[in-house]
Amino acid sequence: MVTSISNPHAVLISSPGLGHLIPVLEFGKLLITHHNFEVTIFAVASRTSAAESEMIQAAMSSKLCQIIEISPPNISHLVDADATLVTILAVMMRESKSALRAAISSLTSRPNVLIFDVFGTEFFDIADDLGVAKYCFVASNAWFLSLTVYTPLLDKLVQGEYVDQTEPFDIPGCRSVRPEEVVDPMLDRRNQQYFEYVRIGREIPLCDGILINTWEDLQPKALAALRDDKLLGGIVKAPIYTVGPIVRTPEPTGSNREVLDWLDKQPSDSVLYVSLGSGGTLSYEQTIELAWGLELSQQRFIWVVRPPSTAKADGSFFTAGSGGDDFSSFLPEGFLNRIHEVGKLVPKWAPQVNILRHSSVGGFLSHAGWNSTMESISNGLPMIAWPLYAEQRMNATALAEELGVAVRPKIQPSERVVGRDEIVTMVRKIMVDKQGQPIRDRAKELKHSAEKAWSSEGGSSYNSLSLLANKRKHP
Ligand code: UDP
Repeated sequence: MVTSISNPHAVLISSPGLGHLIPVLEFGKLLITHHNFEVTIFAVASRTSAAESEMIQAAMSSKLCQIIEISPPNISHLVDADATLVTILAVMMRESKSALRAAISSLTSRPNVLIFDVFGTEFFDIADDLGVAKYCFVASNAWFLSLTVYTPLLDKLVQGEYVDQTEPFDIPGCRSVRPEEVVDPMLDRRNQQYFEYVRIGREIPLCDGILINTWEDLQPKALAALRDDKLLGGIVKAPIYTVGPIVRTPEPTGSNREVLDWLDKQPSDSVLYVSLGSGGTLSYEQTIELAWGLELSQQRFIWVVRPPSTAKADGSFFTAGSGGDDFSSFLPEGFLNRIHEVGKLVPKWAPQVNILRHSSVGGFLSHAGWNSTMESISNGLPMIAWPLYAEQRMNATALAEELGVAVRPKIQPSERVVGRDEIVTMVRKIMVDKQGQPIRDRAKELKHSAEKAWSSEGGSSYNSLSLLANKRKHP
């Protein structure tokens, strides 16, 4: 039974995985702190990731908003053992629908808006049944949104596999997407995750508003195309609210203090931070090459190390922060002794936001996940964009070619092992070499642009969030 309340009440729903949960939690905080919303967050949990459980617990104990965990459904009878990530997430969300519907209906205060992430588009009818607005929260960027809503059309236009095409795909008004950059679900058109992705692309435009983790000055062309009736706006009629960059506030650093203490002793801008997000893993061979590349670059570094994965680049997506830390079994012989003055290895999970904002950090080798990218840009750091899965190949190209804040391997890391010499060149370029100066300058410029977006005096994301909040307060 729902009753009305004085402050508007936003209900946010996150799919499993830290890359989904983190921006939803942060967006919830923005609604509370900037606009006095009451916020309830439903987190469909994986319950397999130590870092995810800790984050949900920490959010619950902060008491800023109500967090309700939806237990993960058993989907073992519905997906094959080798099912891919998007299939697993889509099926987990589908199977959570009745629990979620019941939980939302039993809230004591009536929601004014339900905000789903892109894996929640099948839940729009829950909002319709309650008679409240339904928004879609895209925790990624405008290029990703453009490709996603355009894929149902590409599905009709393109014959054969996308990756076998010889020409880039033209997305109206946007930068084109090369066949080797397509998002993971487009790699194999016969795989279930492709059908899930096309469905999501058809469903996103059915919502009442789209929130996106970017800002107007970062992606002006793509956003204009999404709003132009003659371009992608012909597909996406819902208003688009840019609410980025959404970046986590630094965490309290109890047990993780050691790495920050080490950073305190290093010179300014001298340390490269190496982390492949919550889910990224490398092959054994690639891990060895990366270790050599870091050592031979003669730069200081912090490396969040995960045991190599034999099969999947997203191998730790559901287990982030768990597992062993016996580095010596998979790193080059003698590596730990040789680097111990200049390098710091962190097992599994590091306090990334605290590290990136530390003045000793001067660059970021990242898998180009969008949260990590926003955290990097907000701290003015040049990047080595090392894409592994999801939409990261597109992000990496855009970071290197369009935004000019990154270098990236010559060939996609999913295609072949990136050798130590190329790694040395990339590390030295963003950290110290003269030819990397324009990239370092550009990173600083974008940091200012990001700050401007949240300025209370006319910042585009600040205004966009106010517009959205006022619309929900006075629909
Ligand atoms: N993260 C972290 N410590 C780690 C690895 C990742 O705090 O050791 C956080 C990171 O700050 C970011 C999120 O996990 O907020 C990862 O999101 P992203 O979109 O970059 O990648 P995904 O994990 O979704 O692939």
